[in-house]
Amino acid sequence: MISIKDVKKIYPSKKGKVTAVDEVNLEITEGEIFGVIGYSGAGKSTLIRMLNGLEIPTEGSVTVANRMVSKIRGSELRKARQEISMIFQHFNLLWSRTVRENIAFPLEIAGVNKTQRLKRVDELIKLVGLEGREDAYPSQLSGGQKQRVGIARAIANNPKVLLCDEATSALDPQTTDSILELLVDINKQLGLTIVLITHEMHVIRKICHRVAVMENARIVELGPVLEVFKNPQQEITKRFVQQVTEPEETKETVGHLLEQYPHGKVVQLGFVGEAAEQPLITNLIRHYDVTVNILQGKISQTQDGSYGTLFIHLDGEESEVSKAIDFIHSQQVGVEVMTNG
Ligand code: ADP
Repeated sequence: MISIKDVKKIYPSKKGKVTAVDEVNLEITEGEIFGVIGYSGAGKSTLIRMLNGLEIPTEGSVTVANRMVSKIRGSELRKARQEISMIFQHFNLLWSRTVRENIAFPLEIAGVNKTQRLKRVDELIKLVGLEGREDAYPSQLSGGQKQRVGIARAIANNPKVLLCDEATSALDPQTTDSILELLVDINKQLGLTIVLITHEMHVIRKICHRVAVMENARIVELGPVLEVFKNPQQEITKRFVQQVTEPEETKETVGHLLEQYPHGKVVQLGFVGEAAEQPLITNLIRHYDVTVNILQGKISQTQDGSYGTLFIHLDGEESEVSKAIDFIHSQQVGVEVMTNG
């Protein structure tokens, strides 16, 4: 379904040139759910954008559904894009249109007549589980519902390939799971090939058949997800695998911490990539009337920022602790709040 051959992408930049993707070769088969994982700046977005012609490789070729998207332009590329659709982290919905109108939009563009359009939109609304929300505007929907609209719109014209650009990164863990389950359903029911990029290994583990790990513009490890989990070869892959295997280990830690800190709340922060825990903690101390005890955790620094988990203990008036936790939730970190009792 997808063939990437000797692809390189160089961007011009003020400092000279940036090689965003280098020496990438990849074959993705029909019906596969393929994941690409890497920290921020690894080249994932550039790679996925070359699959639908949003970026053109500097060298090499990209073929999707028998069309060489790295060569074609204009109306030919527009036609190809009907078979290669995309969903995004921030949904990219039309804010002034209802759910129904958003989903109908690509059908309108494709010239589907009104009767067919209405029928198809109804089918899609059922498929993604948005019955009853047809006339809502995006601002009236939860994050998960917005992504359901994004998915319905993306598959409206029966594409062959669905590209997912950090499609669950703005969602809480429970909603993430429900969206991932929907993607698996669609993959099974429609035989759709799915390529997703993410910095979260649990997304890969939950739904992908194979995974490519990207670092510094290159694919440094590639294989079936189960094998990569069982036997990661590269340092970076080991770190990603740890992201997912750590929770078992931390159960004990949490038990100990809750015994030691019976008042207030213990908060587990999960950082990946560019998240920075220091400014977050500084902000907590400065702006909230809480005491912040920094407890144990594993934080490692890379050139992209920090990753790992950290436990902190917040104590003070209940309302002030709640406000501090709301603030943490508004930051780009994974958060779990542990309470005694
Ligand atoms: P990722 O999606 O893994 O975060 P990207 O593909 O966005 O990685 O970026 C890879 C590298 O290419 C980064 O160094 C980034 O700064 C650079 N880059 C991405 N897009 C552009 C662009 N349009 N112009 C210049 N440099 C870019």
